[in-house]
Amino acid sequence: MNTVMSDTVLLPVMEHFYTLQGEGFHQGRAAYFIRLGGCDVGCIWCDVKDSWDADKHPKYTIDQLLTEVEKTPTQLVVITGGEPLMHNLDALTTALQAAGLETNIETSGAHPLSGHWNWICLSPKKFKEPLPGILPHAHELKVVIFNKSDFDWAEKYAALVSPSCKLYLQPEWDKAAQITPLIIDYIKAHPQWELSLQVHKYINVP
Ligand code: SF4
Repeated sequence: MNTVMSDTVLLPVMEHFYTLQGEGFHQGRAAYFIRLGGCDVGCIWCDVKDSWDADKHPKYTIDQLLTEVEKTPTQLVVITGGEPLMHNLDALTTALQAAGLETNIETSGAHPLSGHWNWICLSPKKFKEPLPGILPHAHELKVVIFNKSDFDWAEKYAALVSPSCKLYLQPEWDKAAQITPLIIDYIKAHPQWELSLQVHKYINVP
């Protein structure tokens, strides 16, 4: 039984918006994104560095977030960050699922898993490696490729997730022109992987 009272939980929210999921298995689906503040992973190429300091962002109750989500017809809510697992997400995801919404998370896995999830996208980062506990629960492994050595990093984690976990390689946005051809060649040689592009950036939605 969840003992966390949803009206006492406050979560730092950098931004929240209704858009299309641009990446990975659910790419192309309408989704409400909640980007939580706080991250201690420190990726050098991070494109949301403003998220790192949780104290810079306003705190929302679960009820406030649910109210915002329910202003839209979305069926899917994606919790991202920052590193969303820096916060206990049991109450938020309990409330979202009770409202009939699918809950997806995008996480580096560097903090303990909490929450109730329909889909866990694990995106491991070299700068702070995932904790082992999340690995068997990942539905999707999405590895950002910044340089050639990242293919070995991707294979290290592909060997640790469950056999049913979907495997994606995604070019780091600023190096996409240079890296995408390498990913295409890699996937042709290792067809268990698929290409994930940040489609939202191509179609110019958040
Ligand atoms: S885990 Fe995500 S939010 Fe945190 S530094 Fe890396 S890319 Fe940025």
